[in-house]
Amino acid sequence: MAETHPLKTLQHLPKMVGITKETSRFLRLKTFIYMLRHDKNRIFKRYFLKHLIKYTWNILKSYAKKKSFVRDGDFFLYNLSSLDEFQKFTNVPLAVVGFSYCHKPLECPSGRFTDQCIHDEKHPVCGQCFIGKTIHALPTKNVQVIMVVTIHQLGEEFCKLLETYKPEDMIFLITGCELVLEMFGDWGNMLNLRGVGIRLDGRICNNIKALTLAEIGIKPGLTVVRDETQTKILELIQLLRRE
Ligand code: SF4
Repeated sequence: MAETHPLKTLQHLPKMVGITKETSRFLRLKTFIYMLRHDKNRIFKRYFLKHLIKYTWNILKSYAKKKSFVRDGDFFLYNLSSLDEFQKFTNVPLAVVGFSYCHKPLECPSGRFTDQCIHDEKHPVCGQCFIGKTIHALPTKNVQVIMVVTIHQLGEEFCKLLETYKPEDMIFLITGCELVLEMFGDWGNMLNLRGVGIRLDGRICNNIKALTLAEIGIKPGLTVVRDETQTKILELIQLLRRE
């Protein structure tokens, strides 16, 4: 497929800091403002207020920690102390596997800025796409795949799942820029979620302005999962419950 339908790829990985120095200052406060300001679907009103005391307590506990996650290279661990600990929870009723839209190929037949993914193994673009390959490697049951377009959409997907599943009944694996993974921490802890964020490389959003534009579909650059990280993701996926 690569011979007959070569895709536009990054010729080399740009050297970009994960989060700019300016953005990293007071990032938790900036995240709080960002989350409230861009809540177009009123998810706070619809979900947060239902559990006001519990969620307020959870997020305050998270804010009290120096970091809302543990980092191991490209892996951001939420409510997990190490990647090895992920194995303990792979038998839960639901695995949530999410992919940021920014690492869809530029030629993606479903379109980039959309939560759709046809992952057609015979399609020459899907056949070369890491997202497609990963989806085909997933168990056929007990998995929810999410194509992540915005942080709020991801939050809303989790809030909906929490109406059916308890937080301890889920484990997640989600790709994102370092900035998004850092911003997600306290809010994931607020919902008591457990899982792994996977850092993207390439043309990432490393400041709030770039993120704001990406969240309205202005994202011409490609992000990528590094090769060794791809291998590790596929190993983690093999551990998920398969019956
Ligand atoms: S697998 Fe999904 S994301 Fe990848 S090219 Fe196909 S439709 Fe796009």
